[in-house]
Amino acid sequence: MSDQLSCDYLIIGQGLAGTVLAHTLLSKGKSIFILDEYRDSTSSRVAAGLFHPVTGRRIVKSWMVDELFSFANNFYPGLEKLLESKFFFPGNLIEIISSAHEYNVWSERLDDPGIARYLATDVRREIYDDKLIRFLKLIALSGAGWMDIAKYLDVSLKAFSKAGLLHSGKFSGQDLEVCETGFNYKHIRADKIIFCEGSDALQNPLWSWIPFLQSKGEILTIQANTLPEEYILMKGLFLIPLGKNRFRVGSTYSWKFTDELPTESAKLELVSKLEEIIAVPFEIIEHKAAIRPTTKDRRPLIGEHPLRKNHFIFNGLGTKGVLLAPYFANEFANYLISGKELNQEVRIERFYSAFNSASSLLSKGG
Ligand SMILES: Cc1cc2nc3c(=O)[nH]c(=O)nc-3n(C[C@H](O)[C@H](O)[C@H](O)COP(=O)(O)OP(=O)(O)OC[C@H]3O[C@@H](n4cnc5c(N)ncnc54)[C@H](O)[C@@H]3O)c2cc1C
Repeated sequence: MSDQLSCDYLIIGQGLAGTVLAHTLLSKGKSIFILDEYRDSTSSRVAAGLFHPVTGRRIVKSWMVDELFSFANNFYPGLEKLLESKFFFPGNLIEIISSAHEYNVWSERLDDPGIARYLATDVRREIYDDKLIRFLKLIALSGAGWMDIAKYLDVSLKAFSKAGLLHSGKFSGQDLEVCETGFNYKHIRADKIIFCEGSDALQNPLWSWIPFLQSKGEILTIQANTLPEEYILMKGLFLIPLGKNRFRVGSTYSWKFTDELPTESAKLELVSKLEEIIAVPFEIIEHKAAIRPTTKDRRPLIGEHPLRKNHFIFNGLGTKGVLLAPYFANEFANYLISGKELNQEVRIERFYSAFNSASSLLSKGG
């Protein structure tokens, strides 16, 4: 008797992308198998898991945030029930405003009904009176929250393992055989293979031509016993209440780096910003770093390899994986199953010219 496993999709990587895609395909009746090389320092395991409706100094709505938030707000609670675990925490976020200029910018932006709809009501601002360094206003927004991504990955890993759907190990292209009905990878036979390798995609010769613009991020967990835990705080930095008087504080952005290890300079940067925000004592209890899988145009990256049929990628979740993953895993699954078109902005075809340039350089021995 053969002990070969057969599935529709072999997924490489059980970070946020691979896990959300696996749950999505399973929910649509497809069979999957996942191969993952477990590491503590992946983007998903280090991430703060924050989501919020507006971004940046210019205070603009995040790309597609209305659709992404409403999709995620159904998707994750559904999985919480299935996995019998709590890891998704929608809530209000408070923007700390310190100058008249900042306040004027916010007031102008709040004339936009698309942004004003996220203003939160019934907010207990007074709890921060003596806890924050001098501030002018606190603006509270709904449509925010955070996700304990590491916990989501852990409970999913357990469920996939129990169902015999996950194997621990590093994918090696040498073990992949193309056959008439798809692929054989060791004892697994699959119709299609989907790479969800995060920033490791750059080490995979199949995808190393993609113009990723990876950024290293560092993050702290602090203990601050007298800081209220009701709201997420934002002021350039975010402070996410994790419970038990612990807060996640982050994060830094660095585009020049040689490794994924935490650095003293990033820690100092976070601490000095934090000291400009909170007026209560705190202690650092953890410091982590990882590389975000970001593309040049900051959009997800989905689709088929330009030459290798049935080799797909789901990547480029960048800084907003929590909201992007469920919506685009669903789009991707519909594309795979029924050929439904993907959103133009996320299609891998936008980078095919980079593949052609890389191939022509190689053929010229460049
Ligand atoms: C400091 C920091 C803070 C962040 N904060 C937020 C935030 O607040 N909100 C938010 O939405 N996003 C945040 N992010 C971004 C978020 O982490 C990413 O968008 C998302 O988690 C990326 O998931 P991924 O699955 O694509 O990649 P990864 O998390 O890198 O997962 C890839 C997985 O594939 C495995 N793998 C790779 N290659 C192979 C192989 N060849 N064989 C087998 N397995 C393989 C890896 O081991 C890993 O398990 C943050 C990131 C960082 C670094």
